[in-house]
Amino acid sequence: MERYPVLEFDLKKLYRNTSIVTKLCSSKGIKVAGIIKGFGGIVEGAEEMVKGGCYQIGSSRIEQLKSLKERGMDVPLLLVRIPMMCEIEDVVKYSDLCLVSEKETLNLLNKEALKQNKTYGIILMYDLGDLREGVFSLEELVDLAQYVEYKLENLYLEGVGSNLSCYGSVAPTRENLTLLARAAREIENKLNRKLNIVSGGGTTTLPLLVRDGVPKKINHLRIGEGINNTQDLPLYWDTNIEGLDPDVFVVKAQIIELNEKPTHPIGQLMVNAFGSLPHYDDKGVRKRAIVALGNQDVGDSSKIIPKDKDIIVLGASSDHTILDIHDCKTEYKLGDIIEFNVLYQAMLMTSLSDYINKKIIKY
Ligand SMILES: *Cc1c(COP(=O)(O)O)cnc(C)c1O
Repeated sequence: MERYPVLEFDLKKLYRNTSIVTKLCSSKGIKVAGIIKGFGGIVEGAEEMVKGGCYQIGSSRIEQLKSLKERGMDVPLLLVRIPMMCEIEDVVKYSDLCLVSEKETLNLLNKEALKQNKTYGIILMYDLGDLREGVFSLEELVDLAQYVEYKLENLYLEGVGSNLSCYGSVAPTRENLTLLARAAREIENKLNRKLNIVSGGGTTTLPLLVRDGVPKKINHLRIGEGINNTQDLPLYWDTNIEGLDPDVFVVKAQIIELNEKPTHPIGQLMVNAFGSLPHYDDKGVRKRAIVALGNQDVGDSSKIIPKDKDIIVLGASSDHTILDIHDCKTEYKLGDIIEFNVLYQAMLMTSLSDYINKKIIKY
């Protein structure tokens, strides 16, 4: 008997989605770094993204890139979280380029690259207002670019990049990306050469790309979610890219209790398993099911979406998720399997959880 809960990872769907996104980007002069951190860096997934047209593979975690290097993956590996001082040796060993915003980090990378007898690639980050990583002033950015170019012999300035809609929820727009394009041009003028990479963000730049709003100078995007978790594009960004399959990842969980119960808890309400007091609608007595899957597995039960559209996720504790199945056409029985699409957080959590069985569907 199959063991549940299980996370199914469909490689063909990942491959197809990758091809669609890389072709779309390529038609607008943009190359794609495929980002694998959202699914825990599963190596087979990274390989499909390369087959599908990603010319670099990136992750925030050097451990994931190390696994790829050790498997002999030969596309450039990009570290997308600005490096910690304590990991500089691994960063230079297991990746080929990274995003950087600190001068001191650049010095350390240069020293380490010299030690390892390498030339290591740099993308300087420019903060366009989202207020996560990045140099805040243009002048400082241009100075830093010259510093890399002329003072740090074992580093090569690949280009500049920016990150949006991560901390500050700032949407990528023609206006803010034009600032990045201008910064790139200014640096090119100062260095008297072209930059290879002008990196205009991640998945959240795709909606602007589809609407032809990305300035020409932007030639690089770092995309994970828009390939492996495509339901976010219509859900949050009102963007449909034809042919993208939302079912690259599907979680399946088994029913362990079926019942009819009231919908409002009985007794004095205090706090739930996680110290908060949710709102409970009183809809009378309804049919419900508990599946053996919890917030320990998915992070937050509001980030999983039952494929049976008549099921409502009522909530979850660490190990139990409560589903309203009152209006379902299917007559569920104990032991039946419920399938869920996962949003980004749930994809991340389930792919990393030791309690979730992973089933990689090959083709
Ligand atoms: C995670 C990350 C990305 C990719 O994000 P997606 O939403 O998965 O496309 C790109 N750039 C940076 C700096 C990141 O940390």
